Amino acid sequence: MSRTTPEPLIVLGAGCAGLSLAAALLRAGVRDQILVLDRRGDWPDDRTWCFWDTGGIPHADLARHAWPAWSVETPAARTVARGRRHRYVHLRSRELYDRLLAELEAAPNCELRTSVTVTGVREDARGVEVSTSAGSVRGRRAWDAMGGAGPLLRGRPDGAVELRQAFLGQEVETATAAFDPGVASLMDFRVSQEDGLHFVYVLPFSPTRALVEDTHVGRRPVAPAVRRATLRRYLGECWGVDAFTVLGEERGSLAMTSWSFPPVRSERIAAVGAAAGAIRPSSGYAFVRLQRHVQAVAAAVAA
Ligand SMILES: Cc1cc2nc3c(=O)[nH]c(=O)nc-3n(C[C@H](O)[C@H](O)[C@H](O)COP(=O)(O)OP(=O)(O)OC[C@H]3O[C@@H](n4cnc5c(N)ncnc54)[C@H](O)[C@@H]3O)c2cc1C
Repeated sequence: MSRTTPEPLIVLGAGCAGLSLAAALLRAGVRDQILVLDRRGDWPDDRTWCFWDTGGIPHADLARHAWPAWSVETPAARTVARGRRHRYVHLRSRELYDRLLAELEAAPNCELRTSVTVTGVREDARGVEVSTSAGSVRGRRAWDAMGGAGPLLRGRPDGAVELRQAFLGQEVETATAAFDPGVASLMDFRVSQEDGLHFVYVLPFSPTRALVEDTHVGRRPVAPAVRRATLRRYLGECWGVDAFTVLGEERGSLAMTSWSFPPVRSERIAAVGAAAGAIRPSSGYAFVRLQRHVQAVAAAVAA
């Protein structure tokens, strides 16, 4: 990647939103220097993104599995809905990160600086100044793409309701057929409700492979070991699975809050992704909103 000239456009954070924004700026034909800063140094396959493919969603072509039907289940009843036009699709973070990192790498006007922690940003008459663990950097504009708990979002006003949607998912492989790969189970409430709203999310990729995610919405943290034990019990009781291999694990704790994340911070400082409130407080979904917002920002910068 090239060295940046002074006064680049600066993207703070290289997660889903930051990488998507930098790539969208490049795809939109922006020729300014683009500098992307992140404290991390690698992009492991740390999450999966699911969404209803309503058409025209950037990167939906990377989806590796699609379900034409989805269910919600309680001990008393099971409801299955079908949507021929809007399938529920699944995309692995690894594939999106690889695509976006390759696009940034190939662009002569883009630089990704890793292992740099952003501590602050301020606007002045000439542009913006970003403070980092590696010194300060000047730019023309900056976008906060550091997620919903980044350093620029400290000091939220009192009064907002804030619950967490916290989960631990395991991708499991069973020796014998157990799952129906035609139906995604969005919420299965056949688990204890003693610790608040509690359900398991099941994405079957084949009769013998599925992502099963133990999920709570509430305020009390649940230890990973407790979640793993719940999944083991759930797979036995609800799917007749007694033996399985864990192929991978993902975790998350998403803010479900009534607080309005400010997408525009000042004339030259704005936000994208979770930092801009992309995570829906009712469901935890963010991918589609985030991608559409990033597209709109890139189009506006290119115009
Ligand atoms: C496990 C998991 C599964 C999810 N599944 C779905 C799903 O199925 N569907 C859906 O719609 N949404 C889903 N979401 C919600 C949402 O889509 C994701 O959280 C998404 O990754 C948000 O993107 P983001 O870029 O805003 O934040 P992130 O992806 O978290 O990126 C933030 C980036 O900022 C960097 N950063 C943070 N602080 C600093 C700092 N001080 N200095 C420098 N860099 C910093 C981080 O290293 C990171 O790279 C999921 C979330 C998780 C955690």
